[in-house]
Amino acid sequence: MTTVPRACPVCGSNNASRPPHPYSRSPWVLKRCACGMVYLENPMEYSALVHDMAWEKTYAAEAEIRRRRHPILYRAARAPKTLWQRLLRRDKLVSWTRRYFAPGPVLDVGCAGGHTLERLPRQFVPYGIEISAELSRLAHERFASRGGRVVQGDALSALGHFDAGFFTGIVMTSFLEHEPEPHAVLAASARVMAPDARLIVKVPNFASWNRALRGGSWCGFRLPDHVNYFTPQRLAALVAGSGFRVLRGGIFDRFPTGDNMWLVAMREPQQRRDGAAASGALL
Ligand SMILES: [Zn+2]
Repeated sequence: MTTVPRACPVCGSNNASRPPHPYSRSPWVLKRCACGMVYLENPMEYSALVHDMAWEKTYAAEAEIRRRRHPILYRAARAPKTLWQRLLRRDKLVSWTRRYFAPGPVLDVGCAGGHTLERLPRQFVPYGIEISAELSRLAHERFASRGGRVVQGDALSALGHFDAGFFTGIVMTSFLEHEPEPHAVLAASARVMAPDARLIVKVPNFASWNRALRGGSWCGFRLPDHVNYFTPQRLAALVAGSGFRVLRGGIFDRFPTGDNMWLVAMREPQQRRDGAAASGALL
C-alpha cells in the first residue's frame, strides 16, 4: 500500500488528521472528506495489481469472505438472474453506445477480459486498457480479431499510448471506483477523445438505499479494490472538474433502489479545459 496518505480525489483536501470512517477495515483506512467524498486513504500501489492483487484474484477472496459472513444473502445475490433482468442490464450499455457514440474506435478503460465491448455492434472497433496481465491478454485476443487492441498497464500510463482525439467514445463501467487517480485519468481520457465524443460512466452509488440499509456489508464495499465511494453529486463534481460537461446522470440513471449509477459526459471545448488546467483547481 502507499505510504503517503492519499488526498480527497474530488476536492484535493488532505484528510490525514481526520478519524477513520467507521466502514474502515484494518489495515485499510477510509476517510470522509468535508466535501462528502468517502475514499480509501492508503490504496495499493499499481504494481500490486498486475499479478499478486489482480482483480480476478481479490474478487475471489472477497466473495469467499462474504460467503462465510452472510451465507444466505450471498446465495441470494448470486442466484441466477431472470432472463428479463439479464436482457435489461445488457441492453443499457449497448443502447447507450449506439445513441451517444459515433461509429469508430471505442475505448474501455479497465476492460477486464473484454466482455463489455465484445457485445457492441460491428461499427465500433474495441480498444481496451487493463492493468491485470492475465485479463489484458484475454481482452487483447478478443479485440484484435475486430481490429482493436489492448494496452496493459495503469490507466494513466496506458492512455499516453493513444493519439489525441482518436476515440469516438470511452466506456468506464466499474472502473472509477478502483482508480486512485480518477481526476488525472479523466483529464487524460478527454485528450484522446474526438471533439464530439462521449464518455459513459457506471459506478456504485454510495447514496443508494441499499448502502444505507446494509452499512459496511453493502456489495459496493470492496477493500482494498474499491478506493472511491461516489455519491451522485461527488461523481458529477469530479467529472465536471476534469474537462467534461455532464450531459445526463439524473434520477432515472440512479434509482435509489439500485446499487449503481450511470452518467454521460462530453469533452469541454479545448479553451475551457486549458483555463481549468491553468487555475489548477479541482471542484
Ligand atoms: Zn473532498
